Amino acid sequence: MTATALNIPFERIADPAVRAVAEKVANGHRLSQADGVALFASPDLTGVGLLADAVNRAKNGDLVTFASNQHINPTNICTLRTTCVFCGYARLPKEEGAYRYTLDQVLAEAKSGNDGMTKEFHIVGGLDMQAGLEYYTTMFRALKRELPHVHIKALTAVEIAHIARIEKLGWSEVLSALREAGLDTLPGGGAETFSAAVREEIARKKLGAADYVGVHRAAHQLGIRSNCTMLYGHVESYADRMEHLQMLRDLQDDTGGFLAYIPLAYHPDDNELGKKLGRQGIATSGVDDLKNLAVGRLFLDNFQHVKSHWIMVTPSISQVALHYGVNDLEGTVVREKIYHAVGARTQQRMTLPELLALIRGAGKVPAERDSFYQVIRRFDDPAQDPVVTAPRTLPLAVGA
Ligand code: SF4
Repeated sequence: MTATALNIPFERIADPAVRAVAEKVANGHRLSQADGVALFASPDLTGVGLLADAVNRAKNGDLVTFASNQHINPTNICTLRTTCVFCGYARLPKEEGAYRYTLDQVLAEAKSGNDGMTKEFHIVGGLDMQAGLEYYTTMFRALKRELPHVHIKALTAVEIAHIARIEKLGWSEVLSALREAGLDTLPGGGAETFSAAVREEIARKKLGAADYVGVHRAAHQLGIRSNCTMLYGHVESYADRMEHLQMLRDLQDDTGGFLAYIPLAYHPDDNELGKKLGRQGIATSGVDDLKNLAVGRLFLDNFQHVKSHWIMVTPSISQVALHYGVNDLEGTVVREKIYHAVGARTQQRMTLPELLALIRGAGKVPAERDSFYQVIRRFDDPAQDPVVTAPRTLPLAVGA
């Protein structure tokens, strides 16, 4: 990717607190957690964005990448159904709407999506007692047999630990068996917010922070790369966010195994937490979405890629985020279920022409990448872009 020299427009940063952080960045000093809190607390959104944009441009130039990916959620049955109060996706085994795909259903869904364009499956689901190691190794072998060119990014750290527990195996044994069956990388979901107090309130039985980090460390030590996330916009404080980012930065210092950081916006509809907070219908603000992306870019100085998830924050905010430190957008997706179960009103897929238009609209250069963030093809010439040949089935904006 084409990078440029760090060029911070100090004269356009209004808040002295943000300028002080910018001085540290310019001098090559790492940001402290207190610096991150100051950035979150600053009213100077533009200043924070300009700083994050300068850092991103120095790393990635004007290039914005995306993957031709497809989400598959094989089971929504989950043992933590009643204790992850922010989740609207999970069901108990006999509850209405519970499902677990058979292998044939997984293969049918895998083949049905995206006109053969899919290059990556993103496979996550619930902690289902009937979906152990064999369920997933059989699935991955079959997917690799039928669609050998497709990368398998599957199973969060929480799911890996769940399989290890029900199979009475270690994390590394599970990871090795899954890799042997076809697993290529791990997604970053399940981190939520690491703070023990926050977890007690929103996900009291979920895998703790040290174990989330431990599973990713075990994966990295086996040579399996992964992504990482943070769920924001619920009950956490700015200090909680920075404690979380510190743990991610520390692991990246140790292993270098993370590919990308992806902040995830909490959606308050159709879950217990949203009712308790009186937030139903009130998602995170665009300002906070942009701040989370920008602070992630600035604090995680050992990450090359920061990704915006347009399903959660809307395509419009993701487009603006390309000027707030973001260099990667969630890709084509095809059929997203988890965030739509908690009120996401965005479309469930995006076509290639739509993604290209979104990126070009921000004045950036689109490029399709593989799952290791290597560029497959650049779209330097807008005149060569594929055109939209069919109307969208769902509108782009929130509120559809
Ligand atoms: S967030 Fe994950 S672990 Fe928690 S209930 Fe939902 S599917 Fe289960």
